[in-house]
Amino acid sequence: MKEHERQAIINHYHACASCRHFGHDDRQGKQVPICRRLGYDTQPDWQFNCWDPKPRVKQAIHKKMGW
Ligand code: SF4
Repeated sequence: MKEHERQAIINHYHACASCRHFGHDDRQGKQVPICRRLGYDTQPDWQFNCWDPKPRVKQAIHKKMGW
């Protein structure tokens, strides 16, 4: 598999929503997306270099890469 193909697979999954630190905070009955590691508000589709994919996401990536 070529590097740009590997990057395309990773980019497909790369977002806070698929990170092991992503969660929600209940604020007066409203679920606000947050990063539990950093303690900041975030959005499911935002991308950061601190991304640490959930185990099932890692599995999906490895499967697509043929590992
Ligand atoms: S800010 Fe970084 S660590 Fe936090 S949920 Fe997003 S990618 Fe994960």
